[in-house]
Amino acid sequence: MSDTPVRSKDRFLVFGAPQIEQDEIDEVVHSIKSGWLGTGPKVARFEDDFKRYKGASHAAALYSCTAALHLAMLASGVGEGDEVITTPLTFCASVNAIIHAGATPVLADVDPRSMNIDPERVAEKITPRTKAIMPVHFAGRACDMDALMAIAQTHGLMLIEDCAHAIETRYKGREAGLFGEMGCFSFYVTKNVITGEGGMVLAKDEALAARIKVLALHGMSKDAWKRFSDSGWVHYQVIEAGFKYNMMDIQAALGIHQLKRVEKNWLRREDIWKRYNAAFRDLPIATPADPEPNTRHAYHLYTIMVDETRCGISRDAFLSAIQKEGIGVGVHYLSIPEHPYYQQTFGWSPQQYPRAMQLGRETVSLPIGPRLGDGDVGDVIEAVRRVLARA
Ligand SMILES: *Cc1c(COP(=O)(O)O)cnc(C)c1O
Repeated sequence: MSDTPVRSKDRFLVFGAPQIEQDEIDEVVHSIKSGWLGTGPKVARFEDDFKRYKGASHAAALYSCTAALHLAMLASGVGEGDEVITTPLTFCASVNAIIHAGATPVLADVDPRSMNIDPERVAEKITPRTKAIMPVHFAGRACDMDALMAIAQTHGLMLIEDCAHAIETRYKGREAGLFGEMGCFSFYVTKNVITGEGGMVLAKDEALAARIKVLALHGMSKDAWKRFSDSGWVHYQVIEAGFKYNMMDIQAALGIHQLKRVEKNWLRREDIWKRYNAAFRDLPIATPADPEPNTRHAYHLYTIMVDETRCGISRDAFLSAIQKEGIGVGVHYLSIPEHPYYQQTFGWSPQQYPRAMQLGRETVSLPIGPRLGDGDVGDVIEAVRRVLARA
């Protein structure tokens, strides 16, 4: 077998590299030349565009999804003494947002097929202190919203969706992020729509969105957003101790044009997903489950499972070997209880959430996205086959 890698070092395929086109470059340059870098008209336009795309009533653009989750927790009144149930198979920001609101995170294990939080496990974790559920639409696959909504209604819980993977996700004709009180989106550089750093809260309630805007800008009263306009001098008033979480116009400049391509890019994502499925059918790796009927997967991540006994190679050895072939990959995610902070603080061990543990220890995310050409996709497939053939 060939010793030369599928892709040489200078052609290394970076995992999650964004597709950036001339329109957004021009828009950013326009912002810089205009001198209006901070929160301004382009942020307002991006909020409007995103609301229209999702069919939402109220939105607040923020510096990140992490900020969005944090403020969603605070605005919904989650705090000291409260418990919030989320999934162990997520990015640390979901759990940290709960902690920073002063509440206690409670984990409910995932369904092994969907990799999403299992409603039956959620129901088992409810106590008199439970205040909210934070589902994560993992990889862009909609959670079982009928079951989660029923649990929330029965127990009077709030639902805050982590939609970092789920811009294009739908469940039974309804948009992800509009099921609960709030949905939090990410425009981080690897996500399906990017602003570099960036996030958005969609809120059911106008008052919640307004409170989030206040909290995102030092706790200054709403009129502070207008204080740089020409409508006369307005003193700002600080009405609570807020944060500095606002989105800048140069971020929104990227997002406005990115969002225009989201549907076209989604078709390309779906195409790559199907190519991988077809190419890996005869291999000992597990490929993602098909999207559930009457749902729309955002195809944010394509995750394979490398089971050492079936594949003859450990997941971590697979990661190293495929990177040596010039293909960048990711791990989404080692389960939350694998990390020392959570073990020490909450006494969690990975074995308490065995499905998330196993998925987290076997999973590998392959590149998927509109920047990839057919040749790139072919290289990923060739690298996966070679690594397994050598195992
Ligand atoms: C990326 C991500 C976040 C955080 O988003 P940022 O915009 O980077 O703050 C939160 N939750 C999940 C599931 C993510 O993938």
